[in-house]
Amino acid sequence: MPLHHGPHPPQDDDRKRRRLAVNPFYATADPLGGMTEAPPTHQLPDSPLPPETAYRLVHDELMLDGNARLNLATFVTTWMEPQAGVLMGECRDKNMIDKDEYPRTAELERRCVAMLAGLWHAPDPQAVVGCSTTGSSEACMLAGMAMKRRWALRNADRYPAKDVRPNLVMGVNVQVCWEKFCTFWEVEARQVPMEGERFHLDPQAAAELCDENTIGVVGIMGSTFDGSYEPVADLCAALDALQERTGLDVPVHVDGASGGMVAPFLDEDLVWDFRLPRVASINTSGHKYGLVYPGVGWALWRDSEALPEELVFRVNYLGGDMPTFALNFSRPGAQVVAQYYTFLRLGREGYRAVQQNARDIAGSLAERVAALGDFRLLTRGDQLPVFAFTTADDVTAYDVFDVSRRLREGGWLVPAYTFPPHREDLSVLRVVCRNGFSTDLADLLLDDLERLLPELRRQPHPLTRDKDAATSFHH
Ligand SMILES: *Cc1c(COP(=O)(O)O)cnc(C)c1O
Repeated sequence: MPLHHGPHPPQDDDRKRRRLAVNPFYATADPLGGMTEAPPTHQLPDSPLPPETAYRLVHDELMLDGNARLNLATFVTTWMEPQAGVLMGECRDKNMIDKDEYPRTAELERRCVAMLAGLWHAPDPQAVVGCSTTGSSEACMLAGMAMKRRWALRNADRYPAKDVRPNLVMGVNVQVCWEKFCTFWEVEARQVPMEGERFHLDPQAAAELCDENTIGVVGIMGSTFDGSYEPVADLCAALDALQERTGLDVPVHVDGASGGMVAPFLDEDLVWDFRLPRVASINTSGHKYGLVYPGVGWALWRDSEALPEELVFRVNYLGGDMPTFALNFSRPGAQVVAQYYTFLRLGREGYRAVQQNARDIAGSLAERVAALGDFRLLTRGDQLPVFAFTTADDVTAYDVFDVSRRLREGGWLVPAYTFPPHREDLSVLRVVCRNGFSTDLADLLLDDLERLLPELRRQPHPLTRDKDAATSFHH
């Protein structure tokens, strides 16, 4: 989200333009119920509008937003079935924090945590503590805070002190939320760079970055950059070896924003979750492959030992005394209800079918993109249903930014961006296949891409090195 500044300076003919904006179909001039000129857009209007007029103004302006189903940049759910929408509408007045007023909503949240504990193989599901959040970003903040506080408690004899600074180890491919966490909570971000054809964390390199001030290591199940799973089990093994050598006991947090809801259904034999004793906490975005409309994430800790009690707050002024761990206070309950609905609706088999379908589409689309001959795949969509590709070495007439720009003409949003250190030389396109991106849509995308290629090949040289696009993909 951009940070917004104040209004643009008013233009001289602003009033005239606003008067022109009104025609009799759009609004009547009835002074009691209508409007004679369009309301100001950057200052609070003086008087109310009838609801149908206000609705039309807002509705019409939003026509210019993109078509979410053609947005292949985002991981976030853009389609739910109507029943989920009805249920969410019924819950739009429920405040998640108000657990005494809405005990059933609170209970559904609790059940979701229990289901996730099972899904992620918590050895003692009863011991698990967890909560819903607004998304993975908040969940990661909470997990990071828990790691930092646990480290601080273990190091109470030397922290805080001027020359002691906690650090968190991660791959350079982390989602921006981890950089936010480090900046907001004054933790040094120690990042393992990309190297050659390795586009995510290397377990050995991560272990080497650890010292007595390391609060934890983040492993990502599903790198945002290319959809690859990080080797969490190898990471834990490298940290086991480190502990044997040095005595340092460094916990792992798994950022399963996407993969936390993919791997349990499609890669059951892959061990990345609470089966690994070193994994202290896991997050996921309910609104990504959890298949719920945006605003829900989940954070789970293996046991209460992993989540220091002093971070948990109890407030009694809404009635009751439910412990909470959250950055927000008030928050909508509808998304949590929708998550429970989706769990109930799909079950394991249903989730497996939906995710397998997305992965099949990703795999087949990746193959067909590669077959065009102009592109080289970095990933094949066989982990997250996501793949990244770049132009082949002998393609010099255009670059990935040109492809992204030209696809946009057909309404497709396929982001192009440069990779982080040490692969800043590499620019890629990324396609996120999610529920609602059907085989038909995949065919249409490929048709469009194929149709563009002859024109792109005739360019004298790449036309758009769009640096803004390169930095604004972070979804
Ligand atoms: C999307 C994502 C996040 C942030 O999640 P939100 O739910 O959008 O806040 C964090 N980590 C990874 C790996 C992601 O893909």
